[in-house]
Amino acid sequence: MLSVALIAHDQMKPEMIKFALQNKNILAKCKITATGTTGSLIEEHTGIQVEKVLSGPLGGDQQIGSRISCQRVDVVIFLRDPLSAQPHEPDISALLRICDVHNIPVATNRSTADILIRYIHDKVQECK
Ligand code: PGA
Repeated sequence: MLSVALIAHDQMKPEMIKFALQNKNILAKCKITATGTTGSLIEEHTGIQVEKVLSGPLGGDQQIGSRISCQRVDVVIFLRDPLSAQPHEPDISALLRICDVHNIPVATNRSTADILIRYIHDKVQECK
């Protein structure tokens, strides 16, 4: 099963919910891991089961980074807020770096997420 990590900063959570609802059928066929608040919102709005790690500022980004290092995540969709300072900026940089280290596709905005969901769709079809 394809493993997808979803993360959204506070200002981007409405966009993440919209994204998850629009792509519910595809995401439901993947193993979804998410940071705490993002994961709860996705579960609440879509009914998709989500493995929730800690909230991003409490170490959730690092937990997802650790899963990437262990080859337990195939794709990351991380809707970042480009206009607000984040207290856990070092963790965000570390997560993006570890995606590059392991050559993991990562979307940091909605347009790229829309492109990656097509890749996810194709991978899900291949896994059938
Ligand atoms: P959250 O974490 O989903 O728990 O809000 C995301 C973040 O802000 O990094």
